[in-house]
Amino acid sequence: MSEIILINECNHLQLNPDDLTICLVYPGETRVGLSSLAVHRIYSLINSIEGVSCDLFFIDSDSSFFLGRELKEFDVVAFSITYEDHLFTVASTLHREGIPPVREEREKEGNYPLIFGGGIGLFYNPAPFIPIFDVIYLGEAEGRLEEVIKEIVISGGELETLDKFDNVVISKKYQFFYNGELVEKIDGERKRIFRSPIFPKTFSHSCFLSGDTAFKDMFLIELNRGCIEKCRFCVATYMGLPFREKEIEIVEREIEIASKYGNKVGLIGAGVTDYSKMEELYRILKKYNVKASFSSLKASSHSPYIFKIIEESEQKTVTIAPEAGSESLRYAINKKVPDEKYFSFAEKALQHGAENLKLYFLIGLPGESEEDLKGIVDMTKVFREIALKYWKERGKTGEIHLSVNPVIAKPFTPFQWYGMNPKSEIEKRIKFLKKALSKIPNVKFTHENVKRAILQAIVSRGDTRVGEAAIESAIHRVNFRKALKERGLRFDNLYTREREKDEVFPWDMIESGIRRDYLWREYQNTFERKSTPTCFPGCNVCGLCD
Ligand code: SF4
Repeated sequence: MSEIILINECNHLQLNPDDLTICLVYPGETRVGLSSLAVHRIYSLINSIEGVSCDLFFIDSDSSFFLGRELKEFDVVAFSITYEDHLFTVASTLHREGIPPVREEREKEGNYPLIFGGGIGLFYNPAPFIPIFDVIYLGEAEGRLEEVIKEIVISGGELETLDKFDNVVISKKYQFFYNGELVEKIDGERKRIFRSPIFPKTFSHSCFLSGDTAFKDMFLIELNRGCIEKCRFCVATYMGLPFREKEIEIVEREIEIASKYGNKVGLIGAGVTDYSKMEELYRILKKYNVKASFSSLKASSHSPYIFKIIEESEQKTVTIAPEAGSESLRYAINKKVPDEKYFSFAEKALQHGAENLKLYFLIGLPGESEEDLKGIVDMTKVFREIALKYWKERGKTGEIHLSVNPVIAKPFTPFQWYGMNPKSEIEKRIKFLKKALSKIPNVKFTHENVKRAILQAIVSRGDTRVGEAAIESAIHRVNFRKALKERGLRFDNLYTREREKDEVFPWDMIESGIRRDYLWREYQNTFERKSTPTCFPGCNVCGLCD
């Protein structure tokens, strides 16, 4: 691991003997965990609380990052969950560290740290994590997590006192009743996902820099949350709504901090190029002599300053996500952007110095036909034709990188009812695209591991039995399919079954603030290939801005 630079403006671990000790665990490798802005934010936020010290832990190490301690030595072990399949890693990590992953076993034996879970990969459906975690935190951190941690300090880890928070789930208070594969009822208070009102005024930037992370010494700054477009598959959008953007004064302060440590910032957000103060942002970047790159570009964004930033920052690769190969399928997922707009947007990026295009597409969308798949290939050819002009002019050939991923049905999105394509169908589509795209020069094709996508899909809409099966599979090396079967669940059915309109979902144990009838209407609109408007002032259509 190369040298880690600590950003002084963050709150870092300063261990005092009487402190409550928390270990923030990222269930992945160090280089991936240190690339996670969520890990940076939460680590700094917890260390800002008096009487609390927070260390980090990654699974490729057997001791904590700063103190070199075992997990068992901490008062609280807090997992930051980004992906659903982290469920398996959480179980195996606890087991490896001598902490029983099964919550009820720990309760019987006593004397273990409090096991706490939070993060975007879990809070829209905590059900599969209920058999493991003592406490589950729902939603965003800013303005609420501090209060919860302070309560743990005051109460000495007494679970009951945390129940007063409307976004904190005390796992043992929930009971699931099943009827065959379906959930019949869930006993327990319905807690609610917390959406931070203070995000626009809050710092959320890198706290460490390292050459070994995915972003290579780039200082990350979160510009906005949510996305006004509301693509029907996108859980980051729905969990991030209502759309909020950081105040420009806070962004300026963050860029000033970044400038002390280097001259590169990465701007992050679900709809990052929708930031309304793009011109001011451009001027601030110039003032501090900082180069910026966008995590992805939205072709529906308007500001000409996006391209000025790309040019002056010498961003060589730009990422665009058409998601579907035909306009009609794109409108079906509520992505209201015609093909032409993508091409002109890519052309502008190339005019302003970009050399490579990274394109994201989904496969397995509702109603997707062979024509839609061919559309991906045809669009790629057009993107290449456009790029070729600039490559020739510059005497340097770049790359068109297609990243294709199976769509995953996620809770609290219109796709929560969707019966996904079986593995064989997904593989067939990948094979088709791989073959067709291999004939186009300068095109690189990658796709998500299908097995991993299916595991994520199963956990995403899973219940407590899925959690129990995952524990068994992770620690006793039992085949996951078999472990599910022993609990009356069919592996394939869990991701391919279209859900009934009114059936009880495992995630009905919580509420998101988004109305179910709105999501159902949006799901129906998918099949009618009908788009609906973006968020607008005065709208209360989904329930979040009532
Ligand atoms: S109520 Fe309307 S504006 Fe508010 S988040 Fe929902 S769709 Fe967007």
